[in-house]
Amino acid sequence: MVKYDAVVVHYGELWLKGRNRGIFIKRLIENIKTALDDCEPKVVDERDRLLIHFSNEKNMDKAVEKLRYIPGISWFGRVMISKNSLGQITKAANKTLTKKETVRIVANRSYKGTSFNSYEIVSEFIRKSKSINFKIDKSSKKELLINVTRNGTLISSEKINGIGGLPVGSSGKAIVLLSGGIDSPVASFYAMKRGLDVVYLHMHAFDNNKSAEESKMKNLIDVLSRYNQKKSVYYAPSYVFQSATMKVQRRHELVLFRRFLYELATEIARKEHANAIVTGESLGQVASQTIGNMTASQHGIGYIILRPLTGFDKKEIIEQAKALGTYGISIKKYKDVCSIGVSNPSTNMNAKLVSELYRDCKLDEALKRTIGLASHIG
Ligand code: ATP
Ligand code: MG
Repeated sequence: MVKYDAVVVHYGELWLKGRNRGIFIKRLIENIKTALDDCEPKVVDERDRLLIHFSNEKNMDKAVEKLRYIPGISWFGRVMISKNSLGQITKAANKTLTKKETVRIVANRSYKGTSFNSYEIVSEFIRKSKSINFKIDKSSKKELLINVTRNGTLISSEKINGIGGLPVGSSGKAIVLLSGGIDSPVASFYAMKRGLDVVYLHMHAFDNNKSAEESKMKNLIDVLSRYNQKKSVYYAPSYVFQSATMKVQRRHELVLFRRFLYELATEIARKEHANAIVTGESLGQVASQTIGNMTASQHGIGYIILRPLTGFDKKEIIEQAKALGTYGISIKKYKDVCSIGVSNPSTNMNAKLVSELYRDCKLDEALKRTIGLASHIG
């Protein structure tokens, strides 16, 4: 068993952020601390990377599993830390690679103050190739990573891909319209991946919020909270909307429902100091998702509506949902609001008609009532 000293975390794209860099890194550190709360991490900011120390190996292993889900991390791995001397580096590398492995040596110096350069590190390994217990081959896929830093040399053959993106919270906060379907959980993942903190809004078809709170929605949100530990969810009943729109032609109902959802999200965004709305809509996937209908439904909404799945085919969304672990939950039977999904909905409604229907059905009042009936968890 290899005994590692710490986990090194690299944050890829964050270096692009110029003056904001410090803020982004601070946010990432906070998010890591929250996610690894039960692993008692000691996070050290080493400028170009983070080092996380743990009091025992069990905590380190547990942390490695969780780091895979934290937006803003491009890659990470367990490392040994040796003194900055050629002898100590080769000795530590010998401990890292226990089996007869073949590796390519990738040496770097983040700290240039040593008497040897990275070329000399590789030379030292080659010189000692008879006495070390692994083979060196520059065409090998497996890398032995050596990075000389001011406080010691990091040695590792482990490079685990993170999900990349930006730390949650660094791009602001969004209200995510979460249905029980396949798409919106995937959209939520992409929103978090690009640094949005998320608050969920779910409209349910039950006659009480408790049934929705205890439904599969809870399981969906649990899976999504791997990426963002906060679980803030609004549950609102749809029956007020449904009784207010009883007389509306069924083919118009879908777009009207969408407008109502956006208005509801707007109210919650104000309360939550959020600055965007996220949906799982794609383009052209279903009747309500034509450019015309999307334009008509979002008319007058003061927040940007992000639709991260616009460029995805349904097949790709399903693959991603499977990878995230939400697919199995999404396809479970659920009492959907979409008795609204009629067989021949309008595909090109205009904003004026939607606004007229909204007024005729007194949906402003319905909105107030619905907000009054909503529950908030988290
Ligand atoms: P999904 O798989 O996410 O349900 P979909 O392909 O079924 O999407 P629609 O039913 O037209 O498409 O819904 C489009 C988007 O509207 C959803 O992705 C979600 O963001 C939002 N939405 C739909 N129904 C609800 C609901 N009951 N509560 C909250 N948001 C909803
Ligand atoms: Mg749906």
